[in-house]
Amino acid sequence: MQHRIVVLGAGYAGAVAAGRLAKRLHREDVAITLVNAEPDFVERVRMHQLAAGQDLRPRPFSEMFAGTGVELRLAKVTGVDVDRKTVAVVDANGAGELAYDTLVYALGSGSNAQDVPGTAEHAYEIAGRPGALRLRERLARLDAGQAVVVVGGGLTGLEAATEIAEARPDLDVALVARGGLGDWLSPKGREHLRRVFGKLGITAHEHAAVTGVEADHVATADGKVIPAAVTVWTTGFAVHPIAKATALEVAASGQIVVDGTMRSVSHPDVYAVGDAAMVTGPGGKPLRMSCASGTPTAWQAAGAIAARLTGGKLPNVPIRYFNQCVSLGRQEGLIQYVTADDRAVRAVLTGRLAAVYKELICKSAAWAVANPTLRLPTRRRRVTRQRAAAVSAVGETA
Ligand SMILES: Cc1cc2nc3c(=O)[nH]c(=O)nc-3n(C[C@H](O)[C@H](O)[C@H](O)COP(=O)(O)OP(=O)(O)OC[C@H]3O[C@@H](n4cnc5c(N)ncnc54)[C@H](O)[C@@H]3O)c2cc1C
Repeated sequence: MQHRIVVLGAGYAGAVAAGRLAKRLHREDVAITLVNAEPDFVERVRMHQLAAGQDLRPRPFSEMFAGTGVELRLAKVTGVDVDRKTVAVVDANGAGELAYDTLVYALGSGSNAQDVPGTAEHAYEIAGRPGALRLRERLARLDAGQAVVVVGGGLTGLEAATEIAEARPDLDVALVARGGLGDWLSPKGREHLRRVFGKLGITAHEHAAVTGVEADHVATADGKVIPAAVTVWTTGFAVHPIAKATALEVAASGQIVVDGTMRSVSHPDVYAVGDAAMVTGPGGKPLRMSCASGTPTAWQAAGAIAARLTGGKLPNVPIRYFNQCVSLGRQEGLIQYVTADDRAVRAVLTGRLAAVYKELICKSAAWAVANPTLRLPTRRRRVTRQRAAAVSAVGETA
């Protein structure tokens, strides 16, 4: 009997987890199924580039996983039953069900509209490919001088505003931030950001909370009306509601609460990785939804699952931050070095070199998906029957 591992979601975290498991476990002993709604890998970290009109390299899963032993299932996940250990899916042939012994939940996240009136009707988002393509199409139809307002002063908002302003210098681009522009950055980082905003002609509306979005403007809590032919909503990410509808222990955000091995604290046969997981990072702070911490969670989960099935040593690599890599268009960037728990330190890298560095980071994130063990030598170990049975049993805590 093969041990059935089902991985839900083939983003940075899910695809890496599935690929790494396939390299660590003997093919005769496990059946690894990777379920994803789309047939190719989406580089989410480049959605602002896609929206601004750039073409991204296609990365079909059929090529990425050819010969790995991972079975791809192109389907939309509609539910998980953690008591029956099944996943409900819908594909071109209709509704179906997949049974698992171990589940890796990696469905990522989407845009977070935060219930602000008008966002659903009028705002665009770039949290995923469909949204980015919609915005791309709309931006292409804008005439010179029309206003684009990016709402959200976080990393995604900064990247979106600068990318759009650089690609379309004829547009009037503004950014609305709840706090000060880049106020979490070091003084040098903030200064650089302001310089680039100035160079690209982006207006920053700081300390402003958007309370409503209309077809031609956004309104702020202090009574400002900011004209916007297009509003881009980038105020953070929210997870899909699937996990919350299960008996799994989830945080208020809907993320699955996991231990240091990415195993659900309520259901030992379920692991969660990437944006979908609530992971306690350095200093007891939750890891933020990011590729930077999502990929290491996948390494950790794959290592732990393999160790528990084969009797190996559990991995215990602390997940920490090193830097925040922000693209500011194609010509400019900002690398803000941070502490392990993601607080800015003085050092920054700016300018063209930072843009090149960020591009390398994006390329290596996609490379790491196609090379889940980073090309390091690895051995496919045998799964022992007793181990597999113990792993499946509720209450097992090894
Ligand atoms: C514009 C932008 C820029 C970013 N820049 C950075 C950055 O510079 N650095 C950084 O660290 N992070 C960045 N991020 C965040 C980063 O992209 C995410 O944190 C990361 O993609 C999360 O990885 P994941 O594997 O958890 O989820 P995802 O990458 O979201 O993958 C989830 C997968 O699950 C699939 N899926 C979802 N729902 C279903 C379903 N119901 N059925 C089947 N399949 C489903 C999706 O199709 C997708 O393939 C950025 C995000 C955006 C949008």
